[in-house]
Amino acid sequence: MRSTMQDAPLLIRDIVRHGQWMYADKRVFTATPSGMLSATFADVAQRAEKLASALARLGVQRDDRVATLMWNNQTHMEVYLAVPSMGAILHTLNVRLFPEQLAFIINHASDKVIIVDPNLVPLLAGIKEHIPGVEHIIVNGPAGDVPFEVIDYEEFITAEGPGFDWPDLDEKDAAVMCYTSGTTGDPKGVVYSHRSTWLHSMASTSANSIALSDRDRCLLVVPMFHVNAWGAVYTAFMAGTELIMPQMFLQGEPLLNMIMDLRPTLALGVPTIWNDLLRAAGGRSDADLTSLRIILAGGAAVPRFMIEAFRERHGVDVLQGWGMTETSPLVAVSTPPMGVSREHEIDYRVKAGRVMAGVEVRLTNDEGEVLARDGVAVGEFELRGPWITAGYFGAEAPELFRDGWLRTGDIGTLDPHGYMVITDRAKDMIKSGGEWISSVELETTVQGHEGVFEAAVVAIPDDRWQERPLCVVVRTPESDVSAHELREYLSTFVAKWWLPEHWSFVESLPKTSVGKFDKRALRRLFAEGQLQVETL
Ligand code: AMP
Repeated sequence: MRSTMQDAPLLIRDIVRHGQWMYADKRVFTATPSGMLSATFADVAQRAEKLASALARLGVQRDDRVATLMWNNQTHMEVYLAVPSMGAILHTLNVRLFPEQLAFIINHASDKVIIVDPNLVPLLAGIKEHIPGVEHIIVNGPAGDVPFEVIDYEEFITAEGPGFDWPDLDEKDAAVMCYTSGTTGDPKGVVYSHRSTWLHSMASTSANSIALSDRDRCLLVVPMFHVNAWGAVYTAFMAGTELIMPQMFLQGEPLLNMIMDLRPTLALGVPTIWNDLLRAAGGRSDADLTSLRIILAGGAAVPRFMIEAFRERHGVDVLQGWGMTETSPLVAVSTPPMGVSREHEIDYRVKAGRVMAGVEVRLTNDEGEVLARDGVAVGEFELRGPWITAGYFGAEAPELFRDGWLRTGDIGTLDPHGYMVITDRAKDMIKSGGEWISSVELETTVQGHEGVFEAAVVAIPDDRWQERPLCVVVRTPESDVSAHELREYLSTFVAKWWLPEHWSFVESLPKTSVGKFDKRALRRLFAEGQLQVETL
């Protein structure tokens, strides 16, 4: 029997219409060198309509790829709203990729138009001759001297009148595409649909997740080229959440100022950013983070000390989120369950998160057998659901799927209440004497030492044990903590045979294009003999 319900597709244009009408007065703030700019949702939506008219005039049609090479700012939001709603596909380019990777992705996705921020024009100019399929480049401000034709964004949209007749689309049509950061092999494209974007946005308004609503103002530090800024741009328009866009002002000090001036209620970003904010706030007697109801830290494991430090020093709760480009990304958020005391909450916040309704999760072993959800059995996480990818754009990768489930490559445990604990990426695990050592647990623990600013742990070859952990540490400015002291500190938390005997102290750790520790680069530095290693 068929239901009696109306058959209404889930389209991004209806998120735009809803935010435009219901939350017309809500604002988007953009940090600029000359101060903070702001615009209302009504302005942003109207400018998105004008952009759609202008792109249509330029010849952009259904399924054409319109790419962005942009920071987090208001214009980027206009492109987010306009491009999928007009039936074209938004492709967000990672501004921190190497030029060759950028050219590869632009060609692979067949991008036709690129909208670029002025200070990223030189990056594009460097690869211009290698991206022959790109027909138009639109610059969000003065382009400077470039040897190719560009369109000025403001002039481009000013000529257009308000209103755009958003087309009827199929909810399963492609809306947005994003490439994985590609730490192994070529980056792979994931294509989100209108439907997956809608459902993911709805899930982010749930109180079991991050509960975005019109009572919130969100500091969006996670880049809009990293999985749609974790979906927050669409959710914001759907839920009436104000946004603060920091552009390239991503260091602790400017972020602290933005928090104190604009008093956001929540902030989204990777743990390395929040570590920097902690340091900046620690150096200022007037630091005030109390407007924040949540800092959502995700994309990498969040050390316990960070969660404790934000709570104890600043009265702010940190929530951890887990996800990946392939999963839109939010799959799990570490909201503590009902009835847990304040003291024990932290034992939940250190987990990767509890799986949200809409996504199915299971653990499997090497043979593909499904393991118990008992919080003890260790295996690979596999996922299924309406905002989980079923494949990659123009690339075969059957080894990453099993019977319709996405194999995540993340290893850990799943407990009876749905909380995921990640012990490692499969490729980062350390096999010592036939047993596994968790690099994540070692590094998140050692980062709890007051003399440590950052630390990452990688496997290095060992004649006797096959592999042993190497711990690479950045000390805090005033610290002269030694390898012996850190090993002693670790010994109260982890098994003796886990304790690293190899240590290296460095000025800074290599980071990936989205701000996580770059373990591949660390392994390479070690292999090339560029790390000074102290062996105890
Ligand atoms: P990306 O596609 O660049 O967002 O990377 C996704 C990967 O980041 C996941 O497969 C995990 O390995 C890692 N990751 C994301 N969130 C967490 C988390 N809360 N704890 C540990 N690892 C995480």
